[in-house]
Amino acid sequence: MTTSNVLISEVGPRDGLQNCSGIMPTEDKKRWISALAAAGVKEIEVGSFVSPKLLPQMADTDEIVRHAVQIPGLEVAVLVPNLKGAQLAIAAGAHKITLPLSVSETHSLRNIRRTHDQVIDEAKAIANLIAEQSDGKRPHFEGSLSTAFGCTLEGPIDEQVILKSAERLMAAGCDEVGLSDTTGYGDPASMRHLIRAVRRVVGDENLTGVHLHNTRGLGLANVMAAYEEGITTFDSSLGGLGGCPTAPGASGNVVTEDLVFMFESMGVDTGIDLEALMATRDIVSAALPGEELYGFTPRAGLPLGFKGAPVPAAAE
Ligand code: ZN
Repeated sequence: MTTSNVLISEVGPRDGLQNCSGIMPTEDKKRWISALAAAGVKEIEVGSFVSPKLLPQMADTDEIVRHAVQIPGLEVAVLVPNLKGAQLAIAAGAHKITLPLSVSETHSLRNIRRTHDQVIDEAKAIANLIAEQSDGKRPHFEGSLSTAFGCTLEGPIDEQVILKSAERLMAAGCDEVGLSDTTGYGDPASMRHLIRAVRRVVGDENLTGVHLHNTRGLGLANVMAAYEEGITTFDSSLGGLGGCPTAPGASGNVVTEDLVFMFESMGVDTGIDLEALMATRDIVSAALPGEELYGFTPRAGLPLGFKGAPVPAAAE
């Protein structure tokens, strides 16, 4: 097995907070994001440009993006449901835009009120908008195949629908597609199978990231299966916060602290300082009292003598 290094994309400020009953104050969000970046997190999905009526937790996304893009070296990602969201994301200076296409059309209608054809139209419009931007101002554009491993409303999704959706997103102008186990239905075998199937359609280089939930405790096992298939970007959430408000029963993301611990123990560099990462839990706990934070590593502490992966020598 190769031990290439990985990119951990923290989605707590978006996927995590959208599912919390409380609303994290804007200044706490900024402090949390800054602290995550200071701990070595290189990519953070900081919010989503959705209607504040639907998700009041995300109402300050514009201000949050404008704060996050000031942090040197941080890749600032946002989720957008449509062209209007993409316009706001670009105006705020986001580096990466993710458009979800729920392969379960029932969930797509529930989540962003759009059929598959309508989502593809939005993808085309967003790709055109990005193309119009000047050099250096074009965000990376990902189409995320959500509920790819099954939907709490529809059950298993026909694989042909998934593959067709991946193909259509790329044809619409996405830079890459991602696979999302929104509902935590995936297992290591289905993970390997679907990654291979989608890569056969879009090419290996156009599927590099997965977004996994730990709903049934298989999060890290699924990460390992994806890693062994050559996936290099893993979404996760501090304290395992998260879920989807419109997919009943969907719960927590893979816990970032445990994910970083696993990779660093294996000698795979994440660039993240685990102690500093775990210390950011205090910001979340203080801002959202009563919100349960998960994770085995933060509770057990680091093993005696733990050093983590060797930091690669800086390129000359
Ligand atoms: Zn999610």
